[in-house]
Amino acid sequence: MNDIWNDSDASPIRILVIDDEPRIREACSMVLEDCGYEVTLAPDGLKGLNLVQESYFDIVLLDLMMPELSGLDVLANIRECYPDTVVIVITGYATVEHSVDAMKRGAFDFIPKPFSPEQLRVTVSKAIEFNRALRDISETRSRLRTLVNRLSEGVLCINRQHRVVLANPTFLRMAASTTLAPWGLDYREVIGFEPLKELVHEATGGFEGDGDAIEETVRELALCPGEEAEEAVVLVRVIPFRNRPGRLVGAIVVLNDITALKHMDRMKSDFVSMVSHELRSPMNSVLMQLQVILEGLAGDLTPKQREILERAYEKIGNLAQMTTELLDLATIESGLIVSERSLLDMAAIIRDQVEFHRPRAESESICLIAEIPESLPPIRANRRNMEEVLSNLLTNAIKYSPNGGVVTVSAEAAGDYFALRVRDTGLGMNEEETKKIFQRFYRVRNQDTRSIQGTGLGLAIVQKIVESHQGKIAVESIPQKGSTFTVWLPLEKG
Ligand code: ADP
Repeated sequence: MNDIWNDSDASPIRILVIDDEPRIREACSMVLEDCGYEVTLAPDGLKGLNLVQESYFDIVLLDLMMPELSGLDVLANIRECYPDTVVIVITGYATVEHSVDAMKRGAFDFIPKPFSPEQLRVTVSKAIEFNRALRDISETRSRLRTLVNRLSEGVLCINRQHRVVLANPTFLRMAASTTLAPWGLDYREVIGFEPLKELVHEATGGFEGDGDAIEETVRELALCPGEEAEEAVVLVRVIPFRNRPGRLVGAIVVLNDITALKHMDRMKSDFVSMVSHELRSPMNSVLMQLQVILEGLAGDLTPKQREILERAYEKIGNLAQMTTELLDLATIESGLIVSERSLLDMAAIIRDQVEFHRPRAESESICLIAEIPESLPPIRANRRNMEEVLSNLLTNAIKYSPNGGVVTVSAEAAGDYFALRVRDTGLGMNEEETKKIFQRFYRVRNQDTRSIQGTGLGLAIVQKIVESHQGKIAVESIPQKGSTFTVWLPLEKG
């Protein structure tokens, strides 16, 4: 096996021969030393056992019929205390049953006396292979155990019977477990933290049915470690575990403490809100003053002055828009807006938004269509957030269709989700661009978009809102053909 950790080849193979017949001991010693093995001899079971206790042997050649301590007793002791030592039994013709018995008790093989040097060599070399495989397995296991035990992530493996196969100390601590020896216990007895127990149950479907449909679940959970301590936030991943033929055999739960990240994120959002808040008022007042001048209230303007001031007005207007959007983003990130949720009639919200955007669409020669079924189930969401999602998607669809065209808004209930679609026949984007448009400040820059104003924040806001409602957003787009944005939001259960 090609294992870079394996150093077993570096040290010589150590063999102990325990036999009361000097002739056999000497013959074995000669043959095996010739093969390059390190051979030690013991004339009886007791001395043999003492040697095994003192140092490690890869292989023990053991005579069964010896006075005093019998070979079977020596075998039992070695199997019990030194399971990675391989025992080969040497036995006379008359005791074949004993040899079979010895195999049943854990001997690797047996060599009947008298044996040829070749027989001895072949059996020993088979045993060496076996011993290497055993050592590889046990070393790999112990390396994995050390690795898992030292991970800063909490790791739990459970089987389909809900039993714990592996749980590292970090997991036990994070999951508020009161047991130190969780192996074999039902995971529901091991996890002390109720919401985590529920999440694992939900993510694994309780291991009912054939489990084919179970997928990886990723969710954030707030843990309350104690009354004094600050609330901890943990990212929980429940990963279905399948065997080679693809059958579900259990699940792995990984806990990642993201409290510090969350804290930094909140500080960053606070900073952004503070800065944008401070910028917004002076900018709005500059805008108002410019408007006063542009309306001629401060005296007449030459055409050149008007042109310059109009450009300044537009640029500052954009900046003011950006500060408003930054403020929105920071508010959403700090989780403030989504706190108030109610059952919403999305059909009504869509119709209102479509009517609100119709004048702008018409002025750009765009036909705005709403395709909404007669009845749509309600969803639980924040009204202002939903209006913002629609407004952003509609504004973009109109804005990025500079040559007119059709913008269609449609909605449907699909499975457990409510799907909202905004389709346009505008500029479209290539694949690279569609991957980046949800990043803050990202804007597609080319000849067609040069004159279109924007901040690059709208879609970042939309994505944040959708995700904070446990939904998803995706885009499909073809350059010069158009784009379709789809938002999925979970339907109210039951
Ligand atoms: P903004 O429109 O203010 O630049 P957004 O975050 O709303 O910011 O959009 C990011 C970028 O994605 C836009 O700059 C634009 O290049 C691209 N984009 C968004 N919607 C569309 C669309 N419907 N068609 C083509 N490109 C779009």
